[in-house]
Amino acid sequence: MSANTPSLDTEELLAGIRAWVEIESPTTDAAAVNRVADKVQSDYAAIGAKIDRTPGRDGFGDHLLITSPWGDEDAPGILVLSHIDTVHAIGNLAHANPFRVEGDVAYGPGIYDMKGGAHIAFAAMRHLVRAGRTTRLPIRHLLVSEEEVGSPTSRALIEREARRAVAVLVTEPAREGGRIVTARKGTARFEIHVRGIAAHSGTRHQDGRSAIKELARQILDLEAMTDYATGLTVNVGVIAGGTRANVVAAEAHAEFDMRVPNPEIAEAAIARVMAITPHDPDTTVEITGGLNRPGYEKSPEIAKLFDHAKQLAAGIGFDLQDLATGGGSDGNFTASIAPTLDGLGVDGQGAHTDHEQLYVSSLVPRAKLLLGLYETL
Ligand SMILES: [Zn+2]
Repeated sequence: MSANTPSLDTEELLAGIRAWVEIESPTTDAAAVNRVADKVQSDYAAIGAKIDRTPGRDGFGDHLLITSPWGDEDAPGILVLSHIDTVHAIGNLAHANPFRVEGDVAYGPGIYDMKGGAHIAFAAMRHLVRAGRTTRLPIRHLLVSEEEVGSPTSRALIEREARRAVAVLVTEPAREGGRIVTARKGTARFEIHVRGIAAHSGTRHQDGRSAIKELARQILDLEAMTDYATGLTVNVGVIAGGTRANVVAAEAHAEFDMRVPNPEIAEAAIARVMAITPHDPDTTVEITGGLNRPGYEKSPEIAKLFDHAKQLAAGIGFDLQDLATGGGSDGNFTASIAPTLDGLGVDGQGAHTDHEQLYVSSLVPRAKLLLGLYETL
């Protein structure tokens, strides 16, 4: 190698990630998300990539579809999938989790989930441009603005791009020991609304029909659907209702999340939820919601793609393992359309917490793995 051969440099990667992390971008703040989109767009423009920006709608920010400077516009390609929103409110950077590096750990809101991963995917393309190399397939990097709330405005775009992809590489964070993800449970979300009859709790208690009491019984039924043996879980995560301690509650509601390991279990569990009837016939129970993200199963094509990635990793100098997770991602939308590897982003821990962090030593090997996939698929 000559001294002029470009190399992936840890300090440069870290500085680039810092610039993206220091533009805070909570999903619900479209203007903030668009500021980081501006930065990503200008970084990509600087290496000559083609940029197609889809304006946000329904209160969300813009989506970016980047295409490598080489390759046929319409040819099947490699889809790299990232999100630029985070779960962290503005101010997290200034107070709870400022960007800082301590030994091998770099902290910051969204640094692990997933600005670090999105950035190394960019850096892999930049590396090719600097080295004057191209890939057999065009590379399309889709960065969406609202993954953390289930990608309501980008799902159609994600699926459209997956349909012209030979493989989908999702830069969600790596899991324990740098594992990538080759299967994810499906996710369903529901709300349950109970209406009862209000009454004075002192003088006319017998006339009341407590919505809270009914909801409490429904919650126990719902949570009892959880079956760790099959992988079905139901979590009632939000409850509200009632007005005063001395009023029989006329209204109560809850929100719950269901994780399903496969379509058969999903169908049965969702049917059961939708058929819920009240214990007390004087109350009414209404359920809304349904499957948000379908399950993502490790198909033979995905297993083959994983084996290929594992060989590339061995050549780089690390042992790549995979796992199945209950967490959902945009990979759930693509896995049934094109072979998908997920969790190809940076290694670290603390996603969605105030100690969110990446491991600096993972940056170059993981960028090299993406680069290897770009060059060999
Ligand atoms: Zn994420």
